[in-house]
Amino acid sequence: MTERFRVTYATLSADNEELHAAYEAGVERVRSWLGTEVAAPGDPRPGAPVRVASPADPSVTVCRVCPASPAAVAQAVSAARAAFPGWAATPWRQRVELLRRCADAVSDAADELAALVSVEVGKNRLEALGDVEEAAVFFRYYGDIMTANDGYDVAMDSLSERERTRSVLKPYGVWGVISPFNFPVALAAGPTAAALLAGNTVLVKPSLQGTASAWRLHEVLTGAGLPEGVLQLVPGGDEVGRALVSAPDVAGLTFTGSYQAGMQILAQGGSAWPRPVITEMGGKNPAVVAASADLDAAAEGVARSAFGYSGQKCSACSRVYVEASVHDDFVARLVRRAESAVVGDPLQRDTFVGPVIGAESVERFRDAVAQARRRGQVVAGGEVLTSEELPGHYVAPTVVTGLAPDDPLLGTELFLPFVTVVPVESVEEGIERANATVFGLTAGFFSGDDAEVEEFLRRVEAGVVYVNRRAGATTGAWPGVQPFGGWKGSGSSGKAGGGIHYLPLYLREQSQTVVT
Ligand code: GLU
Repeated sequence: MTERFRVTYATLSADNEELHAAYEAGVERVRSWLGTEVAAPGDPRPGAPVRVASPADPSVTVCRVCPASPAAVAQAVSAARAAFPGWAATPWRQRVELLRRCADAVSDAADELAALVSVEVGKNRLEALGDVEEAAVFFRYYGDIMTANDGYDVAMDSLSERERTRSVLKPYGVWGVISPFNFPVALAAGPTAAALLAGNTVLVKPSLQGTASAWRLHEVLTGAGLPEGVLQLVPGGDEVGRALVSAPDVAGLTFTGSYQAGMQILAQGGSAWPRPVITEMGGKNPAVVAASADLDAAAEGVARSAFGYSGQKCSACSRVYVEASVHDDFVARLVRRAESAVVGDPLQRDTFVGPVIGAESVERFRDAVAQARRRGQVVAGGEVLTSEELPGHYVAPTVVTGLAPDDPLLGTELFLPFVTVVPVESVEEGIERANATVFGLTAGFFSGDDAEVEEFLRRVEAGVVYVNRRAGATTGAWPGVQPFGGWKGSGSSGKAGGGIHYLPLYLREQSQTVVT
């Protein structure tokens, strides 16, 4: 790679040779870290190391995670508490500046961070590079929001001449971030960036399968000059997550993960008083295809969103409602697209669909396919593809038709490259069926009719919606462009990451009146 090649949204393109060269150099460098042991610093009694294997080749050890002991979690919380007053008192402009340096450090390390993401969670190179660059953009974007709002310190009306009144937004204290495997860099970084900019100190508990990526991110961020104790990594599995959630001194939490785990965290108290808990949970994201739509665009958009990163995005498209008159035509195009998607080693240049995250996902796939065969038709895919050349957890992009609209497969988030197409009598019915779920994260619509588009936008119940988007029917939100957050069972805050309303979730208001 040329020394200072920068990954940006504009350079993230499949035909950019510099990008490929940078990534391939990153892959070489990452090999020397494989097998790293990750533990909480100074942990007196770390748990027995858990081996994290690459989903693309389980014989490759990505890292060994020593789960943080209860004592280490307590130690990290008290170090974060100790660092809080200094960080909160740092003028916000200084925090913005420092976090911009963090963003640049992430961009500079994008090649190797992305390579690690590919090895650890099986993301193809463009998606892995996007994951890392998104992280850098979060730091810059929230810095811009802080600046645009002048640090959230606003003069209010006064009731007398001697009164000076202000509304000041202040940080809460120690913030816990529990991040998922599927965006191991971006979704560790997004909440961290907001919490830090706001002046909170942060503890990150990454998903076990995602620990190496989060650990490297942490090294890059702290290497850019964050003061001691301001950002710490607390590695481990669910039990460490639970320890963080129940630590009384954790003043706020951001959780990204499953609906079940998110609802549990919301139900659980944990501290002596109510605290903000931001959850980003799952999705069962629909696309509605009208008879008036460009069917090629619809098939392309649905395929990208259903099969991109093997369907393992909260935003993945897994249900399609198509007007009956174009159902067969649409399905034929989607099947062609599914069958031509390149499935393979995520490190290879042409791979579109990499492995699924583990053996459990393959079992879930087998079970879903068996159910689909019993109650409908599997018209593309349906096979497990693991072989000598593909030793990891590989399954074929799968399209299912003929299921009843209330089939359980249409109600459960599978996190697999598995999409179901159902005919509907009208756009109206399509929208109704799209909404008939506990989730409300993303939704797509394909139509050539303005009145239909208006109707969709008026009635759809989802936090992120896209119309006629060939690049992704339901996926691919970018900070500062498409704020990303769920409605209903998909998210608790009602405000979306990467949007203008997100940063204040990490701040509490103090109304100040000073009489002179
Ligand atoms: N932001 C990603 C997208 O728009 C999805 C994040 C997730 O899966 O949680 O596709």
